[in-house]
Amino acid sequence: MMDREMVLYGVKALEEMGNIAAFYTARNTPVWKYGRDGALENCSLLLSKLGISAGDMVMAEQEHTNKVRTVSRKDGGDMVLRGSPVGAYDGMVTDEKGLLLATVEADCVPVYLYDPLRQAIGMVHSGWRGTVEQIAPNAVSRMAAEYGSRPEDIVAVFGPCICAECYEVGTELIDIFSAQYSKEELNSIFLEDLSFARQEKGAKVHLDIRSAIRISLLQSGLTEDNIKDVGRCTKESPELCSWRRDQPLRQSMLTGIMML
Ligand SMILES: [Zn+2]
Repeated sequence: MMDREMVLYGVKALEEMGNIAAFYTARNTPVWKYGRDGALENCSLLLSKLGISAGDMVMAEQEHTNKVRTVSRKDGGDMVLRGSPVGAYDGMVTDEKGLLLATVEADCVPVYLYDPLRQAIGMVHSGWRGTVEQIAPNAVSRMAAEYGSRPEDIVAVFGPCICAECYEVGTELIDIFSAQYSKEELNSIFLEDLSFARQEKGAKVHLDIRSAIRISLLQSGLTEDNIKDVGRCTKESPELCSWRRDQPLRQSMLTGIMML
């Protein structure tokens, strides 16, 4: 078998802060989910590139939940070598060095979290469902409860995801988001004039998931300056996996963070 090149794009905003590896993968290694053909091979390639073993990596059993799991070394290998012992979760936090937290996405928003003072990290998968249900704020609260993190010290970075211009959705999502966000906030979460869009039958609107997550993280106490964005659209980047562009192919990008 030919060796496949493992492409890792670094998340500079975090790696510049020091002892952090934060990255996302390319479309040439599109299979990561536990149990799928080729997933373990891709994990092995990744692990050897990072110089760690499978016991140093935890992935999430993702089902668009808002659940965040606190993980440590003893959980290493979950969703890599074996299934999840605790059911589904879409985010993880840890304060252990050398433990890689990884989620997979194909248009959803990967949110990397780092508290440089308390030395804690988080990795969150936030699609529209997890966003409405506040998974990123849940991870911030968990870091505060477990590690004493202050929200104003936490840096959040949005990895590549589908941009608002590329993300057309049905108007039913306006009602779903209105359960969590104010009218004024909805105006920055959707690109359209909503009073108009709602009246039109079969109308489509464009959803800016990152805007919704940003609003929620600010409410959690993160500062404007500490919410960053790699600014890359998955659908518009042929080298990245995108469900909207590539369906029915079930391919995904792996996003990971680890303290060195
Ligand atoms: Zn786009």
